[in-house]
Amino acid sequence: MKDERIENYLNKLNKDEFTKEVILAIHDEAVKNNVPIVFDDTLDFLMMIIKLLKPKKILELGTAVGFSSIMMALNCDATIDTIERNIDMYNSAISNINKLKLENRIHVHYADALTISLDELENDYDLIFIDAAKAQNQKFFLKYSPLLSDGGLIITDNILFHGYVSEYNDTGTIENGSKDLKAMVKKISEYNKWLLTLEDFDTKFINIGDGLALSIKK
Ligand code: SAM
Repeated sequence: MKDERIENYLNKLNKDEFTKEVILAIHDEAVKNNVPIVFDDTLDFLMMIIKLLKPKKILELGTAVGFSSIMMALNCDATIDTIERNIDMYNSAISNINKLKLENRIHVHYADALTISLDELENDYDLIFIDAAKAQNQKFFLKYSPLLSDGGLIITDNILFHGYVSEYNDTGTIENGSKDLKAMVKKISEYNKWLLTLEDFDTKFINIGDGLALSIKK
């Protein structure tokens, strides 16, 4: 049967199936290689937010292999800038994004998010997703929040850090763990408190995945 509508329909079905297979492969490969990608329930929540917010521009700090940026791109029309400082991660992300032909919408910047020039980025993001080195959250927030549009949202992932942050908050320390872990947990705890002091942001913390902070610009 030669009908354009049928061809289009079948092409779409095949494309959807291909997309699903590629996403699953990226996810499974990341898990196998211990690449820290978003938890499944964090992803579900993030996708709900994306569908409600319908952002036009997204900035992500911490690309890893491109999993979260690909999922965001597939769930809205936004263009996405995402920053990654690890060359192997960057190369994997580029390859994964190309497989899904999303290279026109997801721009991966091979750079350190602490030092990249803001000239390389946009200045009116509707959503900023902070998912890079956790001890640097406050520096990231200070550097990138001026790039957020009014009413825009900053989501910070891992604000509970596997439960260590609440343990630290209760006792002023954590029982087990290296000096580095303790220092990082202290920093995340301080970051969470600091977010609440910001007068131009309204922040709420939620217990999804590894804990998320949602900061809306007033
Ligand atoms: N958002 C990704 C996802 O869910 O698919 C996961 C990102 S992973 C948790 C954190 C990534 O941030 C790592 O790949 C790490 O190399 C990168 N990273 C850490 N600090 C960074 C920095 N200062 N600048 C750029 N990338 C950074």
